[in-house]
Amino acid sequence: MKAFTYERATTPAAAAAAVAAKPGAKFIAGGTNLLDLMKLQIEEPVHLVDVNRLALDTIEPTSDGGLRIGALVRNTDLASDARVRRDYGVLSRAIVAGASGQLRNKATTAGNLLQRTRCPYFYDTNQPCNKRKPGSGCAAIGGYSRQLGIIGTSDACIATYPGDMAVAMRVLDATVETVQPNGQTRKIPIADFHRLWGDTPHIDTNLKPGELITAVTLPKPVGGTHIYHKVRDRASYAYALVSVAAILQPDGTGHVAIGGIAPKPWRVEAAEAALPQGAKATAARMLAGAKPTQDNAFKVPLVERTLAAVMAEAKDAA
Ligand SMILES: Cc1cc2nc3c(=O)[nH]c(=O)nc-3n(C[C@H](O)[C@H](O)[C@H](O)COP(=O)(O)OP(=O)(O)OC[C@H]3O[C@@H](n4cnc5c(N)ncnc54)[C@H](O)[C@@H]3O)c2cc1C
Ligand code: SF4
Repeated sequence: MKAFTYERATTPAAAAAAVAAKPGAKFIAGGTNLLDLMKLQIEEPVHLVDVNRLALDTIEPTSDGGLRIGALVRNTDLASDARVRRDYGVLSRAIVAGASGQLRNKATTAGNLLQRTRCPYFYDTNQPCNKRKPGSGCAAIGGYSRQLGIIGTSDACIATYPGDMAVAMRVLDATVETVQPNGQTRKIPIADFHRLWGDTPHIDTNLKPGELITAVTLPKPVGGTHIYHKVRDRASYAYALVSVAAILQPDGTGHVAIGGIAPKPWRVEAAEAALPQGAKATAARMLAGAKPTQDNAFKVPLVERTLAAVMAEAKDAA
């Protein structure tokens, strides 16, 4: 790990201004992703701005019947909140499907959204990787790509967004709230938060330099059956090969997002009209244009089968 300087921020706007003031500075929250990357010298921040003492750790009702989740709410606290468990079960289930109890105790809402890809070549600094070092090439294309993306990828990068929580937030139509270094705030729909890689895979999100996430808001509950189904190589402590976050209504309509297949939680609103026709029709529309590799072509039928299992579970629960 390289040497860095450190400060504790006292207000959100001051934190944003402090990161913007020093090129190469970063926020640190739980540190569960950032410190790992610093130890490997994949991330080399010259200055860390600790946001842990900002008062962003509460979950409050919003005036329109939704919930406002502070950026520093720990994953364990969010997943176990009674309102989340009752009204946004898909979120609670997605969080507990990720990482381990110890990690969830430290990991924060904002940090979890911003965790970086788990492409094995991204972590191997002996290999070319456009995400780690722009313009250096991509060892995964033509390499071992079993875990990697099948849709929304590019000629520069085929990695996936690895997280679980964001897939549930996508199906819930969450909004990310931020403060910028000049003190202005903005709201980013979760659909527009993570980026497709294109030819700039080193940029993961549409946050601007120094922009601090302050909260994530959820709209009022929509009812229905909430399911998060994660298919992975081990029963726990592993990232998704494919995951499905779903809110399904008794009449067969609903919302679905897929994890583990793309640079962002993959939701195709137009495909949801096919839900009453079944998993095959819906998956075909969601994956139109998919470009799997030989190693990960299995993910195409796996999406359909996982969706079918989720729909059967919802039918039983209704
Ligand atoms: C062994 C292991 C297994 C894991 N398994 C899973 C899994 O199965 N599923 C899953 O979803 N996750 C998994 N994780 C990832 C884990 O969920 C993330 O490491 C964690 O959520 C990151 O949160 P954090 O608060 O520690 O972020 P940090 O490491 O502190 O920060 C991550 C990034 O977010 C930035 N940041 C933090 N807060 C803010 C803010 N408020 N505004 C703007 N930027 C900010 C930081 O600068 C940094 O770039 C695993 C992690 C490990 C180590
Ligand atoms: S897929 Fe993306 S993250 Fe993986 S090696 Fe290629 S450029 Fe890097």
